[in-house]
This record gives sequence, C-alpha cells and structure tokens, in this order.
Amino acid sequence: MTAPYSLLVLPGDGIGPEVMAEVVKVIDWFQANRGMSFDVSHDLVGGSAYDKHGVPLADETMAKAQQVDAVLLGAVGGPKYDDLDFSLKPERGLLRLRKEMDLFANLRPAQCFDALADFSSLKREVVTGLDILIVRELTSGIYFGEPRGIHDDNNTPENEGGRVGINTQRYTSGEIRRVARSAFELAKRRGNRVCSMEKANVMESGILWREEVQWVHDNEYPDVELSHMYADNGAMQLVRNPRQFDVIVTDNLFGDLLSDAAAMLTGSLGMLPSASLGAPMENGRPKALYEPVHGSAPDIAGQGKANPIACILSFAMALRYSFDQGDAAAELERAVEKVLADGARTADLMGPGGGTPVSTSEMGDRIVAALSTRT
Ligand code: NAD
Repeated sequence: MTAPYSLLVLPGDGIGPEVMAEVVKVIDWFQANRGMSFDVSHDLVGGSAYDKHGVPLADETMAKAQQVDAVLLGAVGGPKYDDLDFSLKPERGLLRLRKEMDLFANLRPAQCFDALADFSSLKREVVTGLDILIVRELTSGIYFGEPRGIHDDNNTPENEGGRVGINTQRYTSGEIRRVARSAFELAKRRGNRVCSMEKANVMESGILWREEVQWVHDNEYPDVELSHMYADNGAMQLVRNPRQFDVIVTDNLFGDLLSDAAAMLTGSLGMLPSASLGAPMENGRPKALYEPVHGSAPDIAGQGKANPIACILSFAMALRYSFDQGDAAAELERAVEKVLADGARTADLMGPGGGTPVSTSEMGDRIVAALSTRT
C-alpha cells in the first residue's frame, strides 16, 4: 500500500458532479486493486459554492487546496449565475485557485485514440497514434503585462476614432526558466523531446524566451533533445505533421492558441483533460490542479449524456504527474482506449462509424470493467 495521496475533489456545477462520480469509481478501483491509498475530501466550487457560502470559493476550501497533493475539479458555471456581480461569478472560484496556488504551467495533452481518429479535422493517417503535450505558461505574458488599457489618443486623420489599445508582453528570466524546467521534466517521462515556440524573429521577449530555455537545457537537462521553432511555423506544423512533436513549451498567448488548435486534432471536447502545475511543495510534488477542458455544459446537465472521459483522463494525469504512477496512468488510458474500440459512445461521440450509445455512468462502468479485465 502506498502512503495515502491526498486529493481534494471539487465537482462544481452542471455536468461536473456527473462526470466526477465516474472518476470516483476509478479511484475506488485503483484503491481496491493496485495497492494505492487515496485520502479523498470533497468540497464545493463555483455556483454550488456560491449557493452555500455566498462566494464561488470559500476560504476554507482554498486553504485545503493549498495543503493537498492534488486538486481534481469538474466544471463551473451555468445560466443561473449569469447575472451575478463579476467578483462572485463561478469562474472566479477557479481563477482564485489557479492564482493562489501559482499554477504557472498549463498542460494540455492532445492524444488521438484510434477508435476516434475519424473525428479529427485531419486525415486519419495524420493523427493516428498522435500523443503530444503542450505546456503553456499560464501566469504571465501579454495577458498580465503592464502597461495595458484603452486610452484617448490624438484624433488625427491617421488615427480616425482617436483611441489606442495597449497590452504588454513581458517575461522575466525566472518565469521562463521555471516553465522550461516543467517542460523538460515532463519530457523525461515521455519521449524526451522538447520543442520551444516563440517569435524570436520579431519580439525581444521571444529572444529572451529562446535564450533562457536554451540555458535551462544546457545547464540542467542536456540529455533532453531541444529544438526551437517560430510559433507561426509551429501552428502550421501542428496541422501538417503533428506527430513530429513530443512536448511543446510556449508562452501564454501562443499556448492559448496552439493548445486549442491541437485539441481539435483529436475530436470531441468531452475527451480533453488538462493539468495546471506550480512549484514543488515540501514533499517534492508540484502544486497541481487537474480538470477537463470542457465547461459545465448546462444544455445536457442532469440527463446522463455527458462524456466522463475528459475528467477520467484528468485523473490519469494526476496519477502520472502528481503521484508518479505512470504505469497506472497508462493502464487507465488503455482501458479508455479499449472501451472506445469496443464501440461504447456517449452522445458527443456518436458520429462517423456509429457505435453503442451509452450514458455517463455506463461509460464509467465500462472503463472500470476494462480495468478489471487486466488484473
Ligand atoms: P461547455 O464546454 O460547457 O459546452 C460546449 C458544448 O460542448 C456544449 O454543447 C456541451 O453540451 C458540450 N460538452 C461539453 N462537455 C461535454 C462532455 N463532457 N460531454 C458531452 N458534451 C460536452 O462550454 P459553454 O457552453 O461555452 O459553457 C457553459 C458554462 O461552462 C458557462 O457557464 C461557462 O462559463 C462555463 N465554462 C467553464 C469552464 C471550466 O469550468 N473550466 C470552461 C469553459 C466554460
């Protein structure tokens, strides 16, 4: 039995609780069959926290999140909360978690399951076997840099309208080095290759980015293969030949765009996990929040239609990146692959090739059953 891994489960709103219930089945299976022990506590975030506490994340929940090995979140939001003051909106709960845990590295895998290759916007032969990981810097760059704002400017014939909008791309060496380290660490557990993307040809911050990533490589990770690519070429290469990549590391803005583009290589929103990691804690594990990319899907909430796989794959990421249980993570991913190969499809996956329609809980049950057939 491992020492207990502490896990804070925050199901959230809409389909969040439905998909999280399936993850709990998976956690129970690993406890019962793989000698792992999880110390799981449940709490509220988003609209459900607002309903109970009047805020989208209670201070006690925030404090708990700072103490556990990993936080697993479902989704937040819904039309019921649309008219709330900005500071009370469900999304603020999630943003508070990310900010106070200082989660600077956002991990978005793009993995193509063979059974779903026809869902991709690209040809099957281009995406079959695809398994890349985009590491996006999440807490700095142009979304946070100062000065920023919209100001009055000279109203001249050249500037009809007379205003100027400003955002600043700003990165320090330290911010670049810490996210680069995350990318190299992750590459060591995968294909051992990192491609760093920026626009060093036209941006000084891009030159610094390239130099600092190279510095971290040369001084700390010389055994990991490093290449550099301009981000516009990176976008092109992602749709031309995505399998050439293993880990991509890039800034906040380019990462925002490139990770969404990469997501579509694999098909449905219901399949996409993510992780956000911060600095290592005393026990050596990084601060960590795992969550599906999708939102609370109010249009299908409560109907048993939600695909739980994105949330289950987020837990697989927790196994790999927080608990160093890479074999268990791979086992879970293979179980998902088997269930899909056998034809089980939640509504979002009904498309080319048909399949057997299953509900949220049936999908979870089948994944647990597929795990069990491997004992
Ligand atoms: P959404 O991701 O919730 O839904 C987009 C579409 O995808 C919907 O048609 C939905 O039914 C479908 N979908 C999403 N997840 C699915 C799943 N697991 N299985 C099957 N179908 C799925 O995005 P939205 O509709 O733009 O936003 C709805 C609410 O979620 C809003 O309140 C928004 O602010 C919030 N949101 C939260 C997060 C988050 O918690 N991280 C992310 C995005 C949106």
